[in-house]
Amino acid sequence: MEIKVHNLYPGELEFTSEFAYSEITFLDLRISRNVKGFLETDLFVKPTFKNLYLKYDSYHSRHTLDNIAYGHALRIRTICSTEDSVTKNLDILKSNLIERGYPPSTVTDKIGKACTAPRSVLLNREGSKKSRKKNHCPLGVTRNPRLPLLSNIVKRHFPILQLSPIFSKTFPNPPSVIYKQPPNLKSLLVKAKIREKHNFKGCFRTHDQRCVTCSVLKETSTFQSKSTGQIFQVKGDLTCTTKGVIYLLNCLDCQKQYVGETGSELRIRHRGHRQEFKKALTPIGKHFQVCKNFELIGIEKIRNNNKKKPEKRLS
Ligand SMILES: [Zn+2]
Ligand SMILES: [Zn+2]
Repeated sequence: MEIKVHNLYPGELEFTSEFAYSEITFLDLRISRNVKGFLETDLFVKPTFKNLYLKYDSYHSRHTLDNIAYGHALRIRTICSTEDSVTKNLDILKSNLIERGYPPSTVTDKIGKACTAPRSVLLNREGSKKSRKKNHCPLGVTRNPRLPLLSNIVKRHFPILQLSPIFSKTFPNPPSVIYKQPPNLKSLLVKAKIREKHNFKGCFRTHDQRCVTCSVLKETSTFQSKSTGQIFQVKGDLTCTTKGVIYLLNCLDCQKQYVGETGSELRIRHRGHRQEFKKALTPIGKHFQVCKNFELIGIEKIRNNNKKKPEKRLS
């Protein structure tokens, strides 16, 4: 009855329920009662299974691909309670992987390796795995097929680092090498963020009020010198995340202006300014201890970071 109520809502999801006396499925597990009345567990594969294992010619490290057979074989051995179902499911796994381009000898090797430990050990594996990984610090590296086997290099040279008493105390175990996905065609060609189109060049906010820099950033294409009255154009499209910027701080209380330059992102520089305002050690910090209101304008993108720095001044 309740399921019918949930399905009244329009959408792609449809809820179903199952009821049985002899067997029940949950995630990848099928629990059934055998003729003697004991419970048995078996691997449950959904009818929608399409054999979409990672293809063997996919751009992944060899150990990742090879361990797919090992990992799945371990799963089958952990889930299936009878030898018959283990054999049946391992055969299916093997043919599925061979169909995806895996070398039969590698698949047989990995399945054989997964079959060495007794099932009682496998059922307690999760706990021991967690405690084993607890003291390992990850070393993130962008994956590249030309990289040598980093884990071996780390293991080989780790004793040298251990000679330092501070290091050995901080990192008692060698780090585990974690590979990050390198940029692929999709990430190079498609931007996840769609930039708002402006019909003029200038300084823009890209974030909502939660971004401290955007909240003080003025959206404008021009700025005025308070000492000469001259109006200038903002050069380039500038936001809080633009790197290498000449920027203007306008004091809204006393109309003084400060021009600064940063090689890092504008929002990183602005974070530094906020620290200066708090500590009041620099001239600008002292100024904004007295005056509280200001606006920030990115006025020019620095093409070459080595260019002669403009003068900083409070005028
Ligand atoms: Zn922002
Ligand atoms: Zn002021």
